[in-house]
Parts: sequence; structure tokens; C-alpha cells
Amino acid sequence: MNYKGRIAFEGYAIADIIVYDEANKSKQRAFTKSTNEFERFVSARAASVKAFDELYQDTLKRLGEEEAALFQTYRLMAEDLDFEDLVRANINNSQTAEDAVNNASQQLADTFAALDDEYMKQRATDAREVGKTIVDILLGKDRILNLTKPSILICDDLAASMLMRFDPKMLKGLVLIHGNENSHVSIFARTLELPTLVAVKGDFSLTTALNDRKAIVDTITGHLIIDPSEEEINKYLKLKEEYEKELAELKTFIGKPSLTKDGVQLKINANIASTLEIESVQRHDAEGIGLFRSEFIYLSSKDFPTEDFQFNYYREVIEEMKGKEVIIRTLDIGADKKVEYFNLAPEENPALGYRSVRICRDRPEIFYTQLRALYRASAYGKVAIMVPMIISLEEVNFIKESIKKVQADLTKEGIKFDPKVRVGIMIETPAAALMSDVLAKHVDFFSIGTNDLSQYTLACDRLNPALGVTFNAKHPAILRLVKLVVENAHKAGIVCGMCGELGRNPEIVPFLAAIHLDEISCSSAYILKTRKVLSTIDTTKVDIDSYLKFNE
Ligand code: PEP
Ligand code: MG
Repeated sequence: MNYKGRIAFEGYAIADIIVYDEANKSKQRAFTKSTNEFERFVSARAASVKAFDELYQDTLKRLGEEEAALFQTYRLMAEDLDFEDLVRANINNSQTAEDAVNNASQQLADTFAALDDEYMKQRATDAREVGKTIVDILLGKDRILNLTKPSILICDDLAASMLMRFDPKMLKGLVLIHGNENSHVSIFARTLELPTLVAVKGDFSLTTALNDRKAIVDTITGHLIIDPSEEEINKYLKLKEEYEKELAELKTFIGKPSLTKDGVQLKINANIASTLEIESVQRHDAEGIGLFRSEFIYLSSKDFPTEDFQFNYYREVIEEMKGKEVIIRTLDIGADKKVEYFNLAPEENPALGYRSVRICRDRPEIFYTQLRALYRASAYGKVAIMVPMIISLEEVNFIKESIKKVQADLTKEGIKFDPKVRVGIMIETPAAALMSDVLAKHVDFFSIGTNDLSQYTLACDRLNPALGVTFNAKHPAILRLVKLVVENAHKAGIVCGMCGELGRNPEIVPFLAAIHLDEISCSSAYILKTRKVLSTIDTTKVDIDSYLKFNE
């Protein structure tokens, strides 16, 4: 069986299939009297207790007693008799074990949330987490997360934070049947250098019957082959080897400056979302980190990450980059990056909704904690702060006021920080691009986020797989905005980078070099490729105007 799809990250994978169904299957499983739902609950609970004990031991070794204690709380909650009574009552009301646990943990969470005591209120998140763990075990998801052999993961779509939970050594390829190359899971797959196919065409049915069958993911031409013949496997093993050789040849660009033929220099930085990627950043010779998507710290936490936790995390990245600048983007939660403990209300149009700096203005205590952690970490290396989703000068003023307060408080407390941290904004809304002449006078740098800038300029949902061709970041309207933003930045004497996916597009790099964009930031895997592309360009021969109009 051969299916066509779109490419989110290039490469080849040949391995066995593992199917992951993120939808909660408990809704589809009907309650029948013949299955003993309570027994299913009891054995899943026993497995969860074992898992919590292992997590306790592991965390105790790595982080210490304070952090490990959480898993003891989880164990106590799982074994709590009130919780058991709630589950039993739900099962007696003809609910499956999965639904009974889901509902019981929510009932418990509601009880905690209604209490006055702040500590007890926070236990609501723990109750939900315990419930989710037991339900995952009932659904067999825990087995899937522990990949035991090289695997190609096939799912309908996947949350970016979920992808991070799979063992990167065992995960060889990813297929998102209804996914999209502009979503965060795809961006993350690129960071992990994981061959990824999205928006698979045709009549594909996602069934566990696919498990353990051999597959080939070819994301050079965009194909998924299930049950390949011996001949096909041999052909692809050869192609894979040749491709890997080609990649190895890029190593000659390590240590070289990022220069065009006629001597125009750009800085090529890396986009990252976690410390796990630092090794790849260094291996691909990034000149700095141009976008650290800090929201992934929030996405992989079960509750608001504390100031100390964030400080240690940022410090680790900054120290590992040994003097190269790390641009840390403040949290960009919302739209397709939802975190349960933020308790965000459902929205009709989340991409146009309550997200990023809008949340920070509304809940300044969250922003304050992050800024304090960032400023504390600034004492340990070169750091810059960048705020996403800006549309107005009021937002920039809010950022500046918040920073002033953080600096004043840290000074008062005698905590060291770098007062010269550069503060920049992302230009990823048409409003910010069009007002960039004004905004440039109030910040230290711009970074153009073409993923969202394209979504908002073209009125095209970046997550909708049906809009594949229409979502065209090379559209002349986008390139006109990019040129305007670079010009306005330079008029004000500030640097302008690009951290959206367009920056590493080989067709567009000549245009970007010719308009003197200062920095490109992309997934590590594209750094040397982009440096190679740059080395072939003569900017004096680039016809800038041809990029700014429709092909008539
Ligand atoms: C962008 O919008 O271009 C960007 C870099 O941010 P994100 O993809 O994380 O929204
Ligand atoms: Mg964005």
C-alpha cells in the first residue's frame, strides 16, 4: 500500500509501525455487563501505583526528595478510598472503567478546587493527573510510549508536548494522517530531525491492525509505503544511505561564516524548544539561538513552572551556549498550545484569541515570574528576551514596565542580573508589520515570525491541512511585509531577524540576503543547508522586485 502525503521534515525511515490514537477511546467502548469494569480499574490502578513508585525513585535520584514527593502524593490519591468509592459508584451507573475514572478524578478535582486552602486547591491538578495515568493504562497508551524497537509512529494528529514523551532513539519516522506542516508538532519533528509526513491522501484507516507491520516513510518525495516488498526495502536502504552521505558532506560548512558569494553576511541561529536540542544546535554549528520557544516548559509541566525551575532551565541553556546569544521567547501559550492548568476557556477562533502577550497582560503574575527567572539567568551568559504576538505600542509599554519592576525588585533583593539584556519583539501580525516604523523605535530588535504572519495575512489557518497550497508563505504580500519590516528596523538602527519557517526556504534565502535581513533562525537540521545555499548567492544579481509581485 502506497500513500501520498506532504512533507514536514525530509528523510527516510524504514521500521515497524506503531499506531497511537490520541482520541479518548473510552467514549467509543460501550459498557457491557460481561466485562468486569471494577476489576479492570483495580488492575490499572495497581499498575499506576507501580509507575508512581518508579517515578518517585527515579526523581529522588535525579532531583531530590522535594521534587520526588509529588509521586508519593499521586500514589496516595490513586489508593484513596473516597476515590475508589467514586469510581465504584460510576461503574454501578453503567460507566466503563475509563469513563468512571475520568469522571471520578474530575469530581475529586472539583472538590479540591472549591477549597479555600491554596495548597489543597493545587491538588485538583494532581487528581486529574492521577486519573489520566490510570486511564492511559486502561487504554494501553503507556505501552506505546515505551517504544521497545525502532518505530514509525502513525497517528491522526499529535500534541507537540506528546511527541516529546516518545524515546527519540527509538522513534524513526512520524506520520500525521490529518496533521499539517505548520503546526507545532511538525516544527518540533523538524527540530528532532524526524522524517515526518502529514496530510496523508486517500482512504487511510488508522487501526491497531497496522501495529508491528513494516513501513517506509519517504519524505523526500512524500510517500508512506506499508508492507513494502523486499525489493522496495532494498531500494530505500540504498537511497537512505546516499541521503545520509549527502548530509555528511554538509559538514564542510561547519566553522565557516554564513556569507554570500559577494560577501553579504547573515547570522544563522537555531530554533529550539528544550535543552534536549542543545547537542543538535552545537553539532550543526548554530551561531546562537534565535528562538527558544519557552512555552514548551509550560507545556511539559503539570502546573505553573516555578521561578526557580525556570531559572535553572534557562541558565542551563545559556551556559551550554558558552557566550553565544540565546533569544528566549516569553510564553506563547494559546491557539494550538493549550495547557490544562491555565484553565483557558474554549474559544471559537483560538488563533485569533486569548494567547501569548494577551494572557501575560491579563495575568501579569505569570509574566512576572518568567521575567524574574529570565533576568536571574542573564547573569550566567548572553541572553535576549523576545515577546510574541505584538500588535500595539501599549503591549510594548507593558513589557517595559514589567521589566522595570523585575529589575527594581531584583536590585532590592541583591540578586545579580545583566541590565543590558536586549529586549525585542516578534513581528508576526500584519498590524505589527505595518506599524514597524513606530515599534522599531521602542525595542532592541525584531524577529519576523512568518508562520503566524502568513496565517494572519493570508487569512489561512496554519493548522488546516485542506489549505496546503493556499497557505503560501512565499506569497508576495508576505514578502512585501518582510521587506518593509527589515527597512523600518534598519532605519531605526535595530537588527531584524526571521525565526519563522520561511527563513530557511532555499527559494527565498536569495531575497532575504538581498534585502539585508540580519539573521535567520531555523531548526538545527537546516543550518548548514542554509549556509550552503547562501554561499551560492550573489545578491547583486538578485531581482528583488520579482519576489514582490504575482507571476502574471
Ligand atoms: C512564527 O509564528 O513564525 C513563529 C516563529 O512562532 P511559532 O511558530 O512558534 O508560532
Ligand atoms: Mg508565532
